[in-house]
Amino acid sequence: MKVLVLNCGSSSVRYQLFDMNDESVLAKGMAEKIHESNSIFVHKVAGREDYEIHKPIATHYEAIVTILETLVSDEHGVIKSLLEIEGIGHRIVHGGTYFKEATLVTSIVLEAIRDLIELAPLHNHAALYGMKACLTAMPNTPMVAVFDTAFHSTIPARNYLYGVPYEYYLKHGIRRYGFHGTSHRYVYGRLTDYIGNDKKVITCHLGSGASIAAIDKGSVIDTTMGFTPLAGLLMGTRCGDIDPSIVTYVMDKERLTPTQMDEVMNKKSGLLGISGVSNDLREVERAAFEEGNERARLAIEVFRKSVIRYIGAFSAEMKGVDAIAFCAGIGENSISTRKEICESLAYLGIDFDAEANNVRGVEREITLPGSKVRVFIIPTNEELMIARDVCAILGK
Ligand code: AMP
Repeated sequence: MKVLVLNCGSSSVRYQLFDMNDESVLAKGMAEKIHESNSIFVHKVAGREDYEIHKPIATHYEAIVTILETLVSDEHGVIKSLLEIEGIGHRIVHGGTYFKEATLVTSIVLEAIRDLIELAPLHNHAALYGMKACLTAMPNTPMVAVFDTAFHSTIPARNYLYGVPYEYYLKHGIRRYGFHGTSHRYVYGRLTDYIGNDKKVITCHLGSGASIAAIDKGSVIDTTMGFTPLAGLLMGTRCGDIDPSIVTYVMDKERLTPTQMDEVMNKKSGLLGISGVSNDLREVERAAFEEGNERARLAIEVFRKSVIRYIGAFSAEMKGVDAIAFCAGIGENSISTRKEICESLAYLGIDFDAEANNVRGVEREITLPGSKVRVFIIPTNEELMIARDVCAILGK
């Protein structure tokens, strides 16, 4: 069975086409800078040279048409007809409280996703465009929506409620939802191969967006992201947890509108905001360790401390932790980040294996035999998880 997975962001569409008989990737790529005149489309097939074109892509519909045309093109295609695609999986950022698991897309589901736009304006809007484009281009191919929030639906009220008047929860849905759920679920699933499924686990998705989940016997009981993906850890450009009073104080002092303040916290903060160098940890590490840039060093320290603080908090909450996993760009590749975090947490019972840690992007344990808390690198694969959900829902 061939499954197309689409991940529509506010100005991009990423895709992967899987052959689910052996879970191999037939093609993958992305359309970037949609709505701009310098859009880029990249299509990758193993063993072939990447196909890259620069042309204006005005809408998500155009992006998806470009992807579908390329998948069947004589020169760059990997399938003969779109009819070979038996299911499409869409990554949806916000499932609110409606969606606790992946769901077949029907007109009712589309309406519910539209209702959730308020909670995730940029992302759910883009995903809706993506689903509508597929409905137009491939009206007979079933689609499945897979929600970033779903895996976190087990978080108990004591951890999802905020200390604001309860009526805001009832009236406006103000609560912790949690995000990156598909990644945390994939990583947890891989971990169970090593440790079984009855353990206390902390999964750390550390990429340009970053979040941590506390999982007890397979159920998420807490996570760092909240009402939106802005909360929790310091991230590439997002501030993570700050004193909420800073928001109104800075708006007043800098004369910022809510939209401008939102932009400051989402796009101008985090590693970029503190270092003034970049949102990319590699650049910040270079500035800190090769050029002696003090602000860059501080940005790295604040990021690492935010991870260490939450792992400590979540192990306290679960009354212990059996295993910790690192994934995503930083978690899979930054040897020094993992090293510092694990060494700072030695008190938990982590017997760190510095030699095993000396790798990038490889699934493996990085603690020594007998370590009370076992730590792993698990490269994440959200797209494969979504494709598996499509197969499960379509009963294939
Ligand atoms: P992601 O959003 O998962 O693609 O992760 C992006 C983040 O991973 C960026 O901050 C990158 O700087 C970081 N990253 C990727 N490779 C490395 C590396 N070798 N060392 C440190 N950070 C890395």
